[in-house]
Amino acid sequence: MSHPLKHPVFRMVGEIADRMQLEAYVIGGYVRDYFLERPSTDIDIVVVGSGIDVARQLSQETRSPVSVFKNFGTAMLKYDSMEIEFVGARKESYRASSRKPIVENGTLTDDQNRRDFTINAMAFGLNGHNFGMLLDPFDGMEDLKNKIIRTPLDPDTTFSDDPLRMIRAIRFASQLGFDIEEKTWEAIVRNKDRIAIVSKERIVTEMNKIIMSRKPSVGFELFDRSGLLSYVFPELVRLKGVEKIRGRAHKDNFIHTLQVLDNVAAESDNLWLRWAALLHDIAKPQTKSWNDAVGWCFHGHEVVGSKMVPAIFRSLKMPMNEKMKYVQKLVFLHLRPIVLSQEEVTDSAVRRLLFEAGDDIDDLMLLCRADITSANDAKVKRYLRNFEIVKRKLEEIEEKDRIRNFQPPVTGETIMSTYRIPPSDLVGKIKSAIKDAILDGKIENDYEQAYRLMEEIAAEYGLQKKE
Ligand code: ATP
Repeated sequence: MSHPLKHPVFRMVGEIADRMQLEAYVIGGYVRDYFLERPSTDIDIVVVGSGIDVARQLSQETRSPVSVFKNFGTAMLKYDSMEIEFVGARKESYRASSRKPIVENGTLTDDQNRRDFTINAMAFGLNGHNFGMLLDPFDGMEDLKNKIIRTPLDPDTTFSDDPLRMIRAIRFASQLGFDIEEKTWEAIVRNKDRIAIVSKERIVTEMNKIIMSRKPSVGFELFDRSGLLSYVFPELVRLKGVEKIRGRAHKDNFIHTLQVLDNVAAESDNLWLRWAALLHDIAKPQTKSWNDAVGWCFHGHEVVGSKMVPAIFRSLKMPMNEKMKYVQKLVFLHLRPIVLSQEEVTDSAVRRLLFEAGDDIDDLMLLCRADITSANDAKVKRYLRNFEIVKRKLEEIEEKDRIRNFQPPVTGETIMSTYRIPPSDLVGKIKSAIKDAILDGKIENDYEQAYRLMEEIAAEYGLQKKE
């Protein structure tokens, strides 16, 4: 391991602090990640005194711009691909009657006391007399070695001061593969109701980090066992459980969903594809029914599920933009490749799937492949075999017809100008008849053939070409 403070900027900060007769330390994630050998470019510096003054001086010496957030007493400087945040050491005290802490200037120890976990409270000295010295009052090193998440103070205090820390504990457990120490865990279970006072935005930031961990199911299982998930994401909790009729049980959809999420996570770093995995079966509880002939059905769960996506995103204050639409689309289409494979795989069905999925077809196939889970090996093998047939057919058709970003070769403009008709239903009808003919393989994806078909349909409607 190279030295954590090798970069010259650390010496510069230390010298500035010496000149100003202040103390400065690197603290938190950077120190933790150094020992975990997870190189980081996010650097948090605590100054006993004004962090802003030190940042301004460094900005002059390095000629890098600094952003100052006076209200928060912080400053941020970008230098040599690092993001360096400066903050004054703080002491926080909370009163039971108010969520807002009384924030005062404090010592390094005060600042370490208000950190969330022992592994996040370690600091390196930067001043001349203690440069590179590890200041670790809660023995975070020992917890790092033993892979333990533990609060520095009494966990009830740490969690009631900022309940988000409960979710952060789960996030670090999931992200780093650590265990949550027993007393810390018991305090999470005891204080879970307090999560209600935390903003959705802060919760989602942590939840996204759980989703992005190597094996997100670890985080979601802890989330669930702690009781926190019911507050944060009740729709997921409703997926839990198995019902049996005449000896036939359906899958536990919570366990299945987490397995699919892990499967997707093993293949892709796309946060939104992982969200689609988390939500793909979200409407199973609402659509569940028993049918004597076929057993358990979840008829239309992909349709109902895709309609639930906007409300879930809204309630979590997540972006209502194209990311949401992407998740919605994948939830809507997630059954299609597998349903296809259970029937005869016709070219036209494959073309339609390609047309609807567009550029997201590869993500859809990845999700669909990840969705094939069953305790029954023979079933998995059969599904996989069929899935491979659909996949091959997709590749074949894609090569042949280039349907992925398909636009019908005859445009509405052409139809309108050829027959001198205004925009109307009829134009749409002709256009979609041409599109269907191409997707069904009746004509090729070709201008000449599409134009001829347009002429035939127009004649049926009694349209005359303009002279
Ligand atoms: P990552 O880099 O993976 O996001 P991190 O802990 O390094 O994790 P931040 O979430 O930015 O990144 O936190 C930086 C440091 O600030 C933490 O290491 C911790 O010392 C402190 N911290 C952050 N959030 C809290 C909190 N809610 N309560 C107490 N301390 C916190």
